[in-house]
Amino acid sequence: MITCKSQRELAYMKDAGRIAARAHEELAKAIRPGVTTKELDEIAADFILSRGGRPAFKGLYDFPANICTSINEEVVHGIPSPYRRLQEGDIISIDIGVELNGYFGDCARTFPVGDVSDAARELLRVAEEALYRGIAEARVGRRLSDISHAIQTYVEAHGFSVVREFVGHGIGTSMHEEPQVPNFGPPDRGPRLKPGMTLAIEPMVNMGTHEVVTLDDNWTVVTKDLSLSAHFEHTVAVTNGRPEILTLP
Ligand code: MG
Repeated sequence: MITCKSQRELAYMKDAGRIAARAHEELAKAIRPGVTTKELDEIAADFILSRGGRPAFKGLYDFPANICTSINEEVVHGIPSPYRRLQEGDIISIDIGVELNGYFGDCARTFPVGDVSDAARELLRVAEEALYRGIAEARVGRRLSDISHAIQTYVEAHGFSVVREFVGHGIGTSMHEEPQVPNFGPPDRGPRLKPGMTLAIEPMVNMGTHEVVTLDDNWTVVTKDLSLSAHFEHTVAVTNGRPEILTLP
């Protein structure tokens, strides 16, 4: 069942989403060559807790850390580690979930570490723009797959690919609610969008093949061809007017 949230509930979700977005801003200041992903995990957790929130990925399906840190060919669900140091030229995707007062916010960004290649920079640009193309379709009267189709069309027009195995999702009083929000597919399929629906839209964009593999740690997802991957995500509410992003600082 897809739930539609009241104005009051959307306000709660915005409060949770704001903490997640601000945690990203804190991390942006800390990301540089030499920092470990474990240090980033601690910075994010300290910030979220100091604002009264809870790092919502910790323990979710037994995930062992506060945030996900996925470097270069890692697509999603990378586990922060004291042994993993960022290097000049890396890209790092960071996914942050926050729970506050029983409501959830979820957002991801991919950051360049120092100076990155032109190709990597283009990948980040296209992945982020694809997110906004998807968000633009989150309107009353459109159907769910209009979001998916807009993302896939934009990404593939730029020579990149979208991951199939992992998708966006409804969100609200749980991190993962119905419906699933794929980043690919034909337009005009699935449920019609209604005011109060809240969706985490999250294109995962690969430079090479769309195929992915999960590593032996049972979490880290990497591209099958080890090409770079980027991930951008916002939690978005469908309203009677423009789509409202709930994960803004
Ligand atoms: Mg998500």
